[in-house]
Amino acid sequence: MKPALLATLLGALLAAPALAQEPLRLRYADGTAVAGHLAGDSACYSVSAVEAAGGRAILSDAGARLLLFGDTIELQTTSPFLKVRGELAQLALPVTVAAGEPCIPEQFFVQWLPARYPERISYRDGVLYVTNPAAAAAPAAAGAARPQPRVVVIDPGHGGPDTGRVGPNGVAEKDVVLSISQRLAGLLRARGYEVYLTRTRDTLIALGDRPRLANRWKGERPGALFLSIHANATPRRQQAQGFETFFLSEARTDDERRVAEMENASVAFEEKASPSQSSDLEQLLNGLRNDFYARASNDLAGVIQDRMATFHPGPDRGVKRAGFRVLVGAIMPAVLVEVAFISDRQEARALARAAFQQQLAEGIAGAVDAYFAQHEHLWAESPR
Ligand SMILES: [Zn+2]
Repeated sequence: MKPALLATLLGALLAAPALAQEPLRLRYADGTAVAGHLAGDSACYSVSAVEAAGGRAILSDAGARLLLFGDTIELQTTSPFLKVRGELAQLALPVTVAAGEPCIPEQFFVQWLPARYPERISYRDGVLYVTNPAAAAAPAAAGAARPQPRVVVIDPGHGGPDTGRVGPNGVAEKDVVLSISQRLAGLLRARGYEVYLTRTRDTLIALGDRPRLANRWKGERPGALFLSIHANATPRRQQAQGFETFFLSEARTDDERRVAEMENASVAFEEKASPSQSSDLEQLLNGLRNDFYARASNDLAGVIQDRMATFHPGPDRGVKRAGFRVLVGAIMPAVLVEVAFISDRQEARALARAAFQQQLAEGIAGAVDAYFAQHEHLWAESPR
């Protein structure tokens, strides 16, 4: 047996303190005591125990991401593995769920954290000592820079005379996507994002104006995203279901071109389409003047698909690329989400339901959280 493995196993054995007679509390030197839950014959604690150490937790469907001592520690419910700086670490027991939240084994707090961050936290006589708790959530090497607000621009597709596609149940794309967008805006605002909607009513906004508005709202701030929300449709008599997310690039398949043509057709409803629009588009597609945002948008689309896949009956049609006018010129990662097929009888019914709209909004909000957490490094090198 390798010494490292032996150490891991020993650690695991030592890590399950006898708690049967003790109340389940995690005590910090500043007097904070976090109540725990019983998991097997050991204790586990909600993410509030991480906050008590000065960290921050971002919950997701799969688990949580902890911002603590300058690192991002990812954990998943039902898994004993942690991911930190791209490496895996293992606890003796898996993360469980208690009271609807991830519950982190006690070992994480009293053994793993003190071993990994000896200068930041120690555990003596049943008490956790945190050095400089106020700085615990800040990046390790960061200066005193105040975090910039994160900007999210939500673009509900279509509007006014442009209904988008209308489902077999009579539900119009423009109404469904507005409702999803408003739910998404509410969720993101509650999480501290600065949120803008390109429309909040049943009005038509020119496609070319939408990214221009987004750029104005973004201003000089580096961290911003543009999310255009749509529902998909097939040509008559063809059937399809599922969800897909597009970023701006040249379409490679007929199917990608079909969706771009359908969404770009909104331009016909605009009073006077500016003649420069199509040459702008061509120019962009020729050079992809901004490789950076294309890559970042591709990543964002991937995160959205992953999140949607956790609840959406699907199928997951994946990340796609096409030339969408509404994405042209956005100086930020920009994607167009086709949340489901409104042309499909079953999905049109689902889209009309508040519960499904809310699920979609929560899925996309979770993706925004995950994207910002994963791409902290990108904003520093943003070309603006
Ligand atoms: Zn649409």
